[in-house]
Amino acid sequence: MFRALALVLLTAAPAWGSREGGALHLAQRGGGVIGVVTTSTDLKALVAAVGGERVAVESLAPALHDPHAVEVTPGQFAKLKSAALLVRIGLDHEPWLTRVRATVNDPRFVPGGPNDLDASSGIDLLQSETPRVRSERGVHVHGFGNPHYWLDPTNARPMTKSILDALARLSPSDGEVFARNRTRLLERLDAGIARWTQAMAPYRGARVVVFHDSWSYFARRFGLVVVATVEPAPGIPPSPSSLAALTTSMKEAGVRLLIVEPSSNLSIANQVAARSGARLVTLIPSVGGDPEARDYPALFEVNVRRITEALTGAR
Ligand SMILES: [Zn+2]
Repeated sequence: MFRALALVLLTAAPAWGSREGGALHLAQRGGGVIGVVTTSTDLKALVAAVGGERVAVESLAPALHDPHAVEVTPGQFAKLKSAALLVRIGLDHEPWLTRVRATVNDPRFVPGGPNDLDASSGIDLLQSETPRVRSERGVHVHGFGNPHYWLDPTNARPMTKSILDALARLSPSDGEVFARNRTRLLERLDAGIARWTQAMAPYRGARVVVFHDSWSYFARRFGLVVVATVEPAPGIPPSPSSLAALTTSMKEAGVRLLIVEPSSNLSIANQVAARSGARLVTLIPSVGGDPEARDYPALFEVNVRRITEALTGAR
């Protein structure tokens, strides 16, 4: 097993070493770096935090994207072929990964394969008890539970545990370094969570409507109540009649805030805000989606500030 992994690392080294910028620098330091490909920038940030200088990590998806449509480039296919680890959100979050896997055609990265890491293992999933009918195979419909679990910062604990175990398995001699890196991240997050919880405390129980159902974990952590989604089902645009019903019920329920993302349909979002009287706030769903959201803790720093400012203004 170890020999097989060592071979993977050796064969992976040239492709990662030939990269421009940081990875080349790292490869030149000797010992090789562990090439990791993630499906999201959030996973990339967590892998980078745990792996430190010992990993070179790349995300297949950009920070802001429609989960239905991630276009993987030829360069990224090459990266995955030479990577030692694929880290993904799992559930039905990455329908586009099926095609990527078929193209790469590497048994190491099949679901459950030796170099495939599903970061959802160990997560207490929301909405998994209400399975949705999968109308079309390979569509992001939250069919196995809500996959936006990285938006609760406490979920970084099980996620980074899986990442730590996988990296330490690939490079046992770095296990202690990885564990220390993880502890540092979790300490920073724990301090942040205490601060963010305090900042959100005055708004506990505030009713919000979300465009896409991305914020259930965030809402549970920080005491918001998501009363409706603009999309009648994940990824499905609302019809005029469903919009009318939504804005009526938002007014009746006293919803103060409509949470959208940079990739949401803003013309629809603006209509809902105008008709319901709710204030519109744009939250950042992933690391790098805003220059300030440069790493995983900063993602929450930005979002908590935006939402507290919006709720203060919406009183
Ligand atoms: Zn979703």
